[in-house]
Amino acid sequence: MRIIVLEPDEVLHQVAKEVKKITPNVQKLLTDMAETMYEAEGVGLAAPQIGILKRVIVVDVGDDNGLIELINPEIVSKDGEQFGPEGCLSIPGYRGDVRRAQTVTVKGLDRNGNEVTYTGSDLLARAFQHEIDHLNGVLYTDIAEHVYEIPPEEEEKE
Ligand SMILES: [Zn+2]
Repeated sequence: MRIIVLEPDEVLHQVAKEVKKITPNVQKLLTDMAETMYEAEGVGLAAPQIGILKRVIVVDVGDDNGLIELINPEIVSKDGEQFGPEGCLSIPGYRGDVRRAQTVTVKGLDRNGNEVTYTGSDLLARAFQHEIDHLNGVLYTDIAEHVYEIPPEEEEKE
């Protein structure tokens, strides 16, 4: 378990570095990130959210993919559009309406260094875009059309 960094921490606004070599440390980072995400009941987490400026994300939206671990993820195609509410583990108590691609294909490396590709729509597409934005120092509040406070019991977090 790691501590989740909260806005307005500067680390959330920095660009994360590419992982050049997959070491046991990177694999441990993935494991810790997944545990931290599940504990916080989020559907995604990016390494900068635990203060590590590496291009590493984990996503689990509760679909058949289960846990997705990605190192150096990149969006290779986007299609369509969705507009809806989004939250963030680093910005508790708020939500915002964000315009995103409806479907994205993401390419990256798994924990063994194998190239993997995922195509997701709806929430999975939203989670990929949200987490990859984190690697570029972009928070949903930077691109949301409205940001509003929500009661804690309604939180849905990425
Ligand atoms: Zn987030």
